[in-house]
Amino acid sequence: MSNIKAYGAKDKDADLKQIDIERREVKDKDVKIQITYCGVCHSDIHTVRNDWGGGKYPVVPGHEIVGKVMEVGSKVSNFKEGDLVGVGCMVDSCRECDPCKKDLEQFCENGMVGTYNGKDKHLGGHTFGGYSEMIVVEEHFVLSIPENLDAKAVAPLLCAGITTYSPLRHWNVKEGDKVGVIGLGGLGHMGIKLAHAMGAKVVMITTSPDKAEDAKRLGADEVLISKDQEEMKKHKNSFDLLLNTVPVSHDINPYLALLKIDSTMVMVGAIEPLEPMHGGSLIMGRKRVAGSLIGGIKETQEMLDFCGKHNVVSDVEMIDIQNINTAYERVVNSDVKYRFVIDMESLRTA
Ligand SMILES: [Zn+2]
Ligand SMILES: [Zn+2]
Repeated sequence: MSNIKAYGAKDKDADLKQIDIERREVKDKDVKIQITYCGVCHSDIHTVRNDWGGGKYPVVPGHEIVGKVMEVGSKVSNFKEGDLVGVGCMVDSCRECDPCKKDLEQFCENGMVGTYNGKDKHLGGHTFGGYSEMIVVEEHFVLSIPENLDAKAVAPLLCAGITTYSPLRHWNVKEGDKVGVIGLGGLGHMGIKLAHAMGAKVVMITTSPDKAEDAKRLGADEVLISKDQEEMKKHKNSFDLLLNTVPVSHDINPYLALLKIDSTMVMVGAIEPLEPMHGGSLIMGRKRVAGSLIGGIKETQEMLDFCGKHNVVSDVEMIDIQNINTAYERVVNSDVKYRFVIDMESLRTA
């Protein structure tokens, strides 16, 4: 085992501080990665603050990991020392259940192992995430990063990117489709970029008119202010897909009116009870509300390759690990465009 530096919180009310954690020795199928960048996801904050319950401490968050391969096990075939790689939200799953066999490890019936606060099969206890110097991950869960992309801006693709890419693909977004992205934050900004790169006509749907200019810069063809009843009426029954990235409970009925017959609104943000939905909003037009969670490993690699081909990365603001607590406050106040990424060199040299 090796003892390394990390940043973690000792309980739900504590700030994140430098701590020591252990990583396992490299086994046959393992890849040891020196972490260069790690994105800051809203889930990191929810987990640290135990908003979803079941807290495990100390928690070392981080599941948007980019790094360089330091060492590989004897049975590793896809990676070698020096490769640029990524690790997202999962580091393991059973590999035997139906979803796992269908490359949907995120829905593993025996529970996928989260990159942090998952059950650590190797060392016991729980897993520690990317706010650390290095990580050891089984090859199957390591992703290859296209060398043409800006590595630090790739980090958020590993969670925010795949969370929005997977539903766009699953619902077959194609050239000319009208796609609405609801909410402009970490997820929404990736939704716009990816739908635009797929050739869709993208409409940013937001409550704040001041986000219009930025939405267009990111690739939106049009901006729809959802508080404007007249504008909402003009777009009635016209969308092929709605990607709802709003992270909190809200009234979804006005958005359902925007869908074409047989079309779907996919929820990717709010993991909490929603305001009541009127049955008529669905019945009138055979409409659907669906959900989606990240993507499988195979699809995550496909997303990274797609981003390499279309030159899509996240808009990021770089921070040192020592500023993580301030960054959390800013994320909570939606004061970031659009993702913080930690330069992990700041931890190595600390
Ligand atoms: Zn995340
Ligand atoms: Zn499984």
